[in-house]
Amino acid sequence: MEKKTCIAMVPCPGLSHLIPLVEFAKTLVHQHQHFHVKFIVPTLGPPTPSTKAILNSLPSNINFTILPQVNLQDLPPNIHIATQMKLTVKHSLPFLHQALTSLNSCTHLVAFVCDLFSSDALQIAKDFNLMTYFFSASGATSLSFCLTLPQLDKSVTSEFIIDATKRVSFPGCGVPFHVKDLPDPVVLCGRSSETYKAFLRVCQRLSLVDGVIINTFADLEEDALRAMEENGRELDLTEEISFSQHIHNGLQSESLSKEMSIFNTPPSIKQNDHEKAIDIEEREKAQAKANSPCVYYYPVGPIIQSESRSKQNESKCIAWLENQPPKAVLFVSFGSGGTLSLDQLNEIAFGLELSGHKFLWVVRVPNDVSCSAYFVRQKDDPLGYMPCGFLERVKAKGQGLVVPSWAPQVEVLRHESTGGFLTHCGWSSVLEGVVHGVPMIAWPLYAEQRMNATTISDLLKVAVRPKVDCESGIVKREEVARVIKVVMKGDDESLQMRKRIEGFSVAAANAISEHGSSTMALSSLAFKWQSCSRKS
Ligand code: UDP
Repeated sequence: MEKKTCIAMVPCPGLSHLIPLVEFAKTLVHQHQHFHVKFIVPTLGPPTPSTKAILNSLPSNINFTILPQVNLQDLPPNIHIATQMKLTVKHSLPFLHQALTSLNSCTHLVAFVCDLFSSDALQIAKDFNLMTYFFSASGATSLSFCLTLPQLDKSVTSEFIIDATKRVSFPGCGVPFHVKDLPDPVVLCGRSSETYKAFLRVCQRLSLVDGVIINTFADLEEDALRAMEENGRELDLTEEISFSQHIHNGLQSESLSKEMSIFNTPPSIKQNDHEKAIDIEEREKAQAKANSPCVYYYPVGPIIQSESRSKQNESKCIAWLENQPPKAVLFVSFGSGGTLSLDQLNEIAFGLELSGHKFLWVVRVPNDVSCSAYFVRQKDDPLGYMPCGFLERVKAKGQGLVVPSWAPQVEVLRHESTGGFLTHCGWSSVLEGVVHGVPMIAWPLYAEQRMNATTISDLLKVAVRPKVDCESGIVKREEVARVIKVVMKGDDESLQMRKRIEGFSVAAANAISEHGSSTMALSSLAFKWQSCSRKS
């Protein structure tokens, strides 16, 4: 019997990493039916019911293996969420090797696709002589920063964030970004931390794969995509010079002394010897390639789920929306695991009330750690944490619906009564807002969400970002009410924003249409995989 052409895909733990990769695989096998995809899934703790539901409903040409679970107790205590993901994959490597051995014996295995945080698995893929790809569930702008980080690391001696007012430019950024908005490992953890070092290694590995598949589309992040194509090759001196220029340009408006204090002489990159050896070996292989670009970029998005995986609160939300006027409701959601402090929860509640606009709010039990519900299921009832009398008042006025923990987000965003989206700026949420043409309030919490917030507010101008009160470190109720009015009121500013996002919504549909840019990008990737399969 003829062996099938197979692609192995390895997501890192976390639903919001699994879902986009699964959706990508489905698009691939739907449009190119000769491919078979095998998911090899590392897990932290037992797989959640949602994970099982997603994997059990895959089409027949995609199947999966769940690797033996890693437990939180097996990892060092109090580590950053990114490190948890990375270590889970690292602990799973022997099992991954076994899974690839067996897959290789019964299929025509040609390529290996992994998540950014599964990058430790790349070496194993190379042992099997597979083409290697990163799948980025985030956008091109933040990815362009990641490609730049290895050089930035060489040019900066201090911590990145010394002065929160500084801004930085990088290839394709479009607008200068506040240094404080760079990803968590870069600005929150400190450069000597293991989290930063691990993140840097992931960024270095971005230029060592055959390609990067990105969940975005050409019309949304044109500059970043172009910059990556131009600069995201194996880096050479010429590019280092042009990059210095970018930094300089980005800081033009800042004082020279500030510029000098952040971009100084390079420290050497410290890695443990084993990883250094792997990196050097990989780098040499990459450099040995001809003068053509080493890394190809495939913007294949927007890839979003067509329906929510969990039906929790679905009928309640949709029934309530059915009774509201068109575009009258603000949907408030902080992603699959975002949480707020109790003080911030209170201010949002009062701000929503103060705005006078209708809202549908997904609430979680408050926590000072903003990603506290990402891997851990909350047991308490979040509604018990609402300010006294709030639920009764908004219900009596018919102003809002508050649901605990989860709402069917894509169905809500698609509904004609939804007119605005207060989002934590996870990239999938951003794309879902874009696809459904809903203007946003950008309220980032963790990971690379602050970069996404800058992208949608300052660059694409389809969102407004509330100002944080310097003293308390939270967004006060008056500010919450102000940004809600900007998005929902229907004055000139809000109409312009709506018009822009509706334009991106049309462009998104075009990108994934039969001859659209993202469909073509996927076809060229499929062609490459298929021709490799024929050769071997
Ligand atoms: N989501 C949902 N209902 C919720 C919260 C989140 O359906 O109440 C979905 C949302 O539609 C998106 C995903 O969960 O597809 C969240 O991914 P994103 O990248 O936005 O954020 P993350 O969860 O990674 O922080």
